[in-house]
Amino acid sequence: MTSNDTGSSNLGSRVVLFPLPAQGHINPMFQLANILHSIGYAISIVYTPHNAPDISRFPHFHFQLISDSNSQSDYPIFKPLDVVSSINQLNVHYAGPFKICLARILSDHESFGTVRCIVADAIWHFTQAVADELNIPRIVLRTSSVCSFLAFTALPLFRKIGYLANLEARAEEAVQEFPPIKVKDIPTIGDGDQDSTIELISTVVTETKKSSGLIFNTFQELEPPDLNELRRQFRMPVFAVGPFHKRFSAAETSLRKQDRSSIDWLDTQAPQSVLYVSFGSVATMDKTAFLEAAWGLANSGQPFLWVVRPGSINGAVAAPGSEMLPGEWAEEVSQRSCVVEWAPQQEVLAHPSVGGFWTHSGWNSTLESICEGVPMMCAPCFGDQMVNARWVSDVWRIGINLERVFARRDVEEGVR
Ligand code: UDP
Repeated sequence: MTSNDTGSSNLGSRVVLFPLPAQGHINPMFQLANILHSIGYAISIVYTPHNAPDISRFPHFHFQLISDSNSQSDYPIFKPLDVVSSINQLNVHYAGPFKICLARILSDHESFGTVRCIVADAIWHFTQAVADELNIPRIVLRTSSVCSFLAFTALPLFRKIGYLANLEARAEEAVQEFPPIKVKDIPTIGDGDQDSTIELISTVVTETKKSSGLIFNTFQELEPPDLNELRRQFRMPVFAVGPFHKRFSAAETSLRKQDRSSIDWLDTQAPQSVLYVSFGSVATMDKTAFLEAAWGLANSGQPFLWVVRPGSINGAVAAPGSEMLPGEWAEEVSQRSCVVEWAPQQEVLAHPSVGGFWTHSGWNSTLESICEGVPMMCAPCFGDQMVNARWVSDVWRIGINLERVFARRDVEEGVR
């Protein structure tokens, strides 16, 4: 895919894409679909009933809901608090239905023309076996940074060396084999046992290595040594063709309604004065961390726009309101804050009033912030986020890392 590509050469060719049903995976897959469409490919998207996209926004794509015989309530869903086991369930559950669905598209030449390949999220590891069986090339989209993907692939090595047996006691120790991460940055997923995490990652890596190519939403200039290392380990074509969102916005694939009052509020603020605070679509925090964050923001004296997603505080279903935030806090910040449940993040980061981003260091958020030149304050929660945060602070030097546990004073000092 180069800037010289024209649509005409690809006319009559179709690509079938299969996103993982989670916000941070749906956005880049749809952006990639739009990019492929813009150079002439016809697009089919196979999607699950859970976190289904609003297909009316994409009249130029063909959509295929993956069907199965189970009743609606039986299908597995992506569970943020139980990531490894929900991913395992999804892979088991959809293997059969996906094969039927893909076979139907492949055999219906009249409706769909020639299908060149499938593009599947790396987490859908079962799709390699299906692609092999149906004799169609599979390209993998990995929606993380390259640096964090390499850290995931090194998990068996980290276990062998003994880091994983003693994560807490050795937290501050440098991981000599993978600078500049510390032991506490080693990617972990949820509270599930390490063996099942490593087993899942190993399967993802093995199946990815069998594929025909690997796409990353990153770019050569951002991660040159990491891309070199990736190409050494994965002897297949690797395409670093991001940042996708600079060509197609994520707004169209937002699973939540974006509250545009945040932009109106930003319009009233001074240039580069506002701290934008968001921890993405999956991360949660406990009530203590939430209150520390709230008071840190209040004590910093800085205006802030805070995305507080419903369900983001452990144990609370709704967005926390006055029952969690004391009246004195609200009084303190009323003149310089805006709290919303979901924001048009790309627009927010591009807004001239925004001067910083307190983020959970999800890869899409990190890349969106880098592209707008907004410095970051990182509070990673799990998975790839700790590695992204370490790269932001120590490799790219475009932000600070509050690490995983923070107190109000860290927040206050970090903002200042
Ligand atoms: N996002 C958004 N509005 C918000 C918060 C996040 O549109 O209020 C978008 C953000 O622009 C990004 C995605 O949700 O594209 C979050 O992806 P990321 O990889 O940063 O984190 P995840 O949600 O996967 O943890």
